[in-house]
Amino acid sequence: MRGGAGPDRPRDAGRGGPVSRQVLSGVAVPGLDTGTVFDVTVEDGVFARFEATGPRRGGERELWPGYTETHAHVSLPANWDDTADDPRIIALQYLYHGVTHVVDMFGFPLVADAWREGAAASPWPYPEIVHCGYAVTALTDAAGRTGHGVEFPAPVYMIGVEADLDQALRANAARGGTFLKVMFTDGTEQPGSPVKFSRLSEEVLRFTARTAAERGITAVIDCNTLQETRWAYACGFRLFAHTVRDRTLGAAERAEFAGARFVSTLAGLRPMVMTGEEFLAEYGRESFALTQDPANLEFVRGIEKPYGIGFGCQETRTAALADMRRNALAALRDGSLLVGTDSGNTGAYHGYSFLSELGLLRGDDPTLDHALRHQATFTGRRYFDELRGDASPAGPLGTGACATYNLHAPGAPLTALPLATVVRGVPVDRPALARAIAGLRATAPNGKATP
Ligand SMILES: [Zn+2]
Repeated sequence: MRGGAGPDRPRDAGRGGPVSRQVLSGVAVPGLDTGTVFDVTVEDGVFARFEATGPRRGGERELWPGYTETHAHVSLPANWDDTADDPRIIALQYLYHGVTHVVDMFGFPLVADAWREGAAASPWPYPEIVHCGYAVTALTDAAGRTGHGVEFPAPVYMIGVEADLDQALRANAARGGTFLKVMFTDGTEQPGSPVKFSRLSEEVLRFTARTAAERGITAVIDCNTLQETRWAYACGFRLFAHTVRDRTLGAAERAEFAGARFVSTLAGLRPMVMTGEEFLAEYGRESFALTQDPANLEFVRGIEKPYGIGFGCQETRTAALADMRRNALAALRDGSLLVGTDSGNTGAYHGYSFLSELGLLRGDDPTLDHALRHQATFTGRRYFDELRGDASPAGPLGTGACATYNLHAPGAPLTALPLATVVRGVPVDRPALARAIAGLRATAPNGKATP
């Protein structure tokens, strides 16, 4: 998975035997040219030719690269009963929803062995995954607050001096991590809301950014507020795991962050403030019942008021989500938005919530459809490649690239499942995936990562 030698690289040609060839006739490929229809030839799982055949007339199926989920936690428990699904189920949940590349933002080593074994036994190619190992965060402070991240059931490293960071980087690399995730937020949602976590000092931020750069390791940082984002930017960070949530940035503030990119994570943060009816609507798309633990549906039927009310954060989280969405749409306009979810947070389901995120970003504005799909595929994929240490400029739809793509119905909502998903030339059989998921749920320990 390191150094660009991952499975996205086609296997060597010249294996002998007949060449398998498929031609997709009369498809639109909006990422290459929005006005033209193509015949697309795939040979031995690789794009061999994109031949323009005439102008688009409307009604053509659209071919896009597979979706890249840019902020996930594969090993964290998305279910309301705090159980984590078996990683073999999670892999299929992603495929089912057309997500072919996944960036894990910490914790993947907990399930790495099971994922690898599942992939080896699976008739479908698993999604590609790139991960950071574990995250680094602040030491406990004098007030007894821990750094953000230690509240999750996955290890994080608390760092105070350069030697701690060195140890964390070595340990993550030994586990297959290829980038660094830095937790840097005190948990403030909105101006005046409570400080929940200790935070890395400026000195630690600076040596963290410098050390990562010196070693050629891409670093992603987790900030909440504009002030945190400014400090991190000043120390050299350019990749932000969330959009700013304590205010809607004006043009001058956005201009402070030249060259920065921001991940949207609305789907992962919204469950805290949703009502029972909103949950039932959110879980109402057909693929929920076919891919997710049905106990979640029963659970949300019993929700009488949003959790945010009980936890005293309903208003601040609701306001934060509105700010985050507006900041994400501004990032969309200047091309710096990455589409993610924070799936693995409670109520944010792997695969399913990616399509929800697209819908939350789009709202009722159809003019955003093309740009959102572009960021969720091409831009997300370039980010994925950077994080795994592959600086190759080759795009996902070049001749010679692996044939990993979705076909979308023209005019279908962004939340709709693709018509077809193909991974490295292998078509994904959705009904068979659903049966495989049901089969895993029917066997001990009931489709869960741990009994
Ligand atoms: Zn996260």
